[in-house]
Amino acid sequence: MPNKNGHELFTPAEVMSDPKHNGEFDRDGEPSQLYVHVVDGGLSVCRHCREYEAGLDEPCTCN
Ligand SMILES: [Zn+2]
Repeated sequence: MPNKNGHELFTPAEVMSDPKHNGEFDRDGEPSQLYVHVVDGGLSVCRHCREYEAGLDEPCTCN
């Protein structure tokens, strides 16, 4: 699993295969931000604290 400073990162394949995230929209009717970030944007997002990009430069606080 990708890991940076203790952050465990979602993988695009994981997000696409997860029923909670693989829809076009979340329960508020907005596009799933996780899906947009990870799958469409190719960003690294932490599964614990949902930090991404510059936020990953700080150690994960969830461990
Ligand atoms: Zn984290």
